Amino acid sequence: MEVREQSGEPTPLRVLALDAPGPAGRLLEGVRGGGHPPGLRVEFCTSAAALLQRFWRAGAEAALVPVASGDEGSLAALRQLRLHARSLALVAVRDPADGAIVAEATRRGAGAVLLPSELEAGELARCVRHAVERHRMLCELEEARERERHLATHDPVTELPNRLLFSDRLGQAVAAARRRGDRLAVLVMDLDEFKAVNDTLGHAAGDRLLAELGARLVSCIRRSDTAARLGGDEFGVLITHLRDETAAARVAEKIVAELARPIDLDGREYVASVAIGIALHPRDGSTPEDLIKNADAAMFNAKESGGGRYVFFAQEMNTRAEERLSLESRLRLALARQELRLHYQPQVDVDTGRIAGAEALLRWQNPELGLVPPAGFLPLAEDTRLIVPIGAFVLHEACAQARRYDAHGFAGCRIAVNVSGHQVHEGNLVRLVSEALEESGLSPDRLELELTESALLRDVDAIIDTLDGLKGLGVRLALDDFGTGYSGLAYLKRLPLDVLKIDRLFVRGMAQDPADETLTAAIVAIAEGLGLEHVAEGVETTEQLERLRALGCRRMQGFLFSPPVEAEAFVALLCAAKRDGLGRGGAAG
Ligand code: C2E
Ligand code: MG
Ligand code: MG
Repeated sequence: MEVREQSGEPTPLRVLALDAPGPAGRLLEGVRGGGHPPGLRVEFCTSAAALLQRFWRAGAEAALVPVASGDEGSLAALRQLRLHARSLALVAVRDPADGAIVAEATRRGAGAVLLPSELEAGELARCVRHAVERHRMLCELEEARERERHLATHDPVTELPNRLLFSDRLGQAVAAARRRGDRLAVLVMDLDEFKAVNDTLGHAAGDRLLAELGARLVSCIRRSDTAARLGGDEFGVLITHLRDETAAARVAEKIVAELARPIDLDGREYVASVAIGIALHPRDGSTPEDLIKNADAAMFNAKESGGGRYVFFAQEMNTRAEERLSLESRLRLALARQELRLHYQPQVDVDTGRIAGAEALLRWQNPELGLVPPAGFLPLAEDTRLIVPIGAFVLHEACAQARRYDAHGFAGCRIAVNVSGHQVHEGNLVRLVSEALEESGLSPDRLELELTESALLRDVDAIIDTLDGLKGLGVRLALDDFGTGYSGLAYLKRLPLDVLKIDRLFVRGMAQDPADETLTAAIVAIAEGLGLEHVAEGVETTEQLERLRALGCRRMQGFLFSPPVEAEAFVALLCAAKRDGLGRGGAAG
């Protein structure tokens, strides 16, 4: 679009003409003589450098550059202008006898090559205007292409290279390192709990978080290294010319520290935690694929050991990664093949010896692996989010089973179901629980959901609505493994809890270590002070039972009464408890 002055005339185009000292110089004589041609403002500059200076300071639309074969200076000027003033249309002027120069001038960046005869007033303005218009279109086209290229190789959220470009640079870096006998490092990192941010604060906040982390990542590395977003919440870093392993460790340390600085997200402080895996060339792999795969395996290892740290690749991680993969594919089929089942462990009212409730505990009966306890597959189920469909199965099955037990004297007893943090953060737990209750016809106050500290405390604000929703249904909430999660106590009063479960760690130590008894007494006092019930877990001996009873514990669970048993066997327990009372010598396990 042309800018017009108030008179309606187009603004004159600013043209910088090069007053070349060599033989080409005389070609511009026609312009130099007669003042400004109409529609143009021509200013002469004595060198390409001076022309550039003036362009940078005051701008211009076109440059007029006389060129002649054999006058290398004039051609070099053209090249220089093309390189350093990309928006400037370059119009060359040549001797009519010098036809060979046209191709050369075009090659060096001239958009038009004129003859001195075309420098007459009207003709020059027309040619320059045409050249400027054409150059502008070419620039726009090139920008569009550039944007396209950028989009194909960069992540729009963080502006970092994407996986494609990262792999490409890694490929080149590996080849160069091989030639030079150099080392390089690939870091792969994964953000803990990024999904929770997206789910609770929305995608816009998630994007801002990623952009901020991307910028911090870049601040941790040299300009010659590459930071990339590999997808989702996964980032990669390529460090070339690596002196030794400790240099890679130092970068990883810096990244862990830099990313752990709090970030303000909509007024909430968010502290990111990353797990970093490091693979080195040539030690851990000689191809880009192997290096990324092995850095990935190391990253998994870092994640498993709690995140917020870095781990170097070691060969045995691959064996473990393969085992994990095969376990995962088996676990994916477990639900459909009905290999998952629940065992039930009674919770006993020690005053009467009667069963007051049961905790449903998950087991995996696999034809090849045998009976797998939760510790053998729950961590994997959590990582892969398989825990969400598995957890749904547990809820439905436990509620239905409780109703079946009613015929055997379970009516009025509570069924406790363990719920994973992912289920709480996933967002549809309230609906799921309400469906399980409706389908089974179980009264809501007979369902007790057990949540662990670690599941709850990551972000209390984010889950408080879910917990309130559950309370709204009328179900009871228990805090499992209380006191083992290294968390403060302040959150306790914010959560709508009904029950504290005293972890078996405290119960176990009671007979030997007075400190455990003190802690157990304190937990009982906290529960009672907050108006919560308490259940002691892992009671194995009558001595523990008596000590707990002395502290005021009434509801207990543990091998002393019975281990978790299969669904059918639990019926026999109900009968035995009614007859003799559990833990009183009658049906003690
Ligand atoms: P938890 O909820 O604290 O369950 C109690 C664990 O203690 C159970 O282990 C139980 O078998 C064991 N236990 C009970 N009495 C005694 C005792 O007297 N002595 C000893 N040493 N242990 C006792 P289990 O069944 O292996 O479950 C382990 C954990 O797995 C559970 O800890 C719970 O956090 C998790 N889990 C089990 N089932 C599920 C489930 O359906 N969903 C989820 N998300 N987690 C589950
Ligand atoms: Mg439990
Ligand atoms: Mg527990």
